[in-house]
Amino acid sequence: MGMNELIGISRLFGGDPEFVLGGGGNTSWKDATTLYIKASGAALGTIDESGFVALDLAAVRAVLQRDFPLDSAAREAQALSALLAARLPGQTMRPSVETILHALFPYVYIVHTHPALVNGLLCSVDGPGRAAELFGDRALWIPYTTPGYVLSRTLKDAFDRFAAAGRSVPQIVLLQNHGIFVAAETTAEIEKIYDSVFSTIRAAFGAAGGKAPDFSAVGAGAAADATGDEPEGRALAEAILRQAPGSSLRFVSNAATGVFLASPEAFVPLAGAFTPDHIVYSGAKPLSLSHEANRHAGDAPATRLGPAWKAFVKSEGFAPRIVAAEGLGIYAVGASAKMADLALALFLDAVKIAQYSSAFGGYRHMALSDVEFIKKWEVEQYRSSIASQ
Ligand SMILES: [Zn+2]
Repeated sequence: MGMNELIGISRLFGGDPEFVLGGGGNTSWKDATTLYIKASGAALGTIDESGFVALDLAAVRAVLQRDFPLDSAAREAQALSALLAARLPGQTMRPSVETILHALFPYVYIVHTHPALVNGLLCSVDGPGRAAELFGDRALWIPYTTPGYVLSRTLKDAFDRFAAAGRSVPQIVLLQNHGIFVAAETTAEIEKIYDSVFSTIRAAFGAAGGKAPDFSAVGAGAAADATGDEPEGRALAEAILRQAPGSSLRFVSNAATGVFLASPEAFVPLAGAFTPDHIVYSGAKPLSLSHEANRHAGDAPATRLGPAWKAFVKSEGFAPRIVAAEGLGIYAVGASAKMADLALALFLDAVKIAQYSSAFGGYRHMALSDVEFIKKWEVEQYRSSIASQ
């Protein structure tokens, strides 16, 4: 029981890219008075006791009883300072943005992840209906809600309804276009529930005739850090680096990406954002270079890139982190090698989600207004991280 169990289950899920990518996912353990939760930015796969923050459980739950301003930036800032004030004496790290959610669950262990297989269901048109059919009362479906204070408010209201009806809170909570929470009294039970969720979704995917994404490499330049061996691919890589000098670049081309890079129509499922994490690491959308556009322009992809890049920055307000070149492959651009790796990992995660969602009535992106909110939120967080340096 306790911290050692929490560390063990965190490393188990955090070390498996099927469940957790980058700094994503978070875990917690609570006793009657204290909540131990992953610190913001800690990596689950290698976490030890120093990666967790200890908070007063009652004080965290009480954050939702306070009145906050309607303005979202002011509200999130005040909620965060209330949360920081709920830390036990001597605690200095910032707790996960999802801390209040963890505190709300009346269970000892919580493991929250964003697995591609599960998100295939959560980012699909038929998601709500299929989830009810597959999991019944075992799972609670929460329609897409802005992460942070608003999401914890929504979950609290849902849990209160269970309490009022004299029912226990479900151990599985499915957050549309986001991820899954699994809650239990023991870590063994957490594993068992995850196993059953995965096998249930996998079976439904298979029964619908779904084929698992094929990430085996095809053609030249498929190594993760190559830039494309074909002359056209190399020229495009150089053109990208002219737009983003000093950046790190990753290239990938495989059977799974090839399906979506076959035509502009085939690419549509990847042209929007599936979850907030995808926006944070891969950008709200990729820059897509289609043959069609090339034919109209009468130019090679490398020549097309400059004007397309500038138009993208103008309309989107950020520089592309993914360039998807029809018939060539995927280029990920990052300010560092780590950022480029993360952009690519999250984009390939979106490739999986797009493919899995095909078995559940097709993909469902986040609404554009929600995408805009996350984009602004990121900017705010970036500003605050710079300001605190
Ligand atoms: Zn999450």
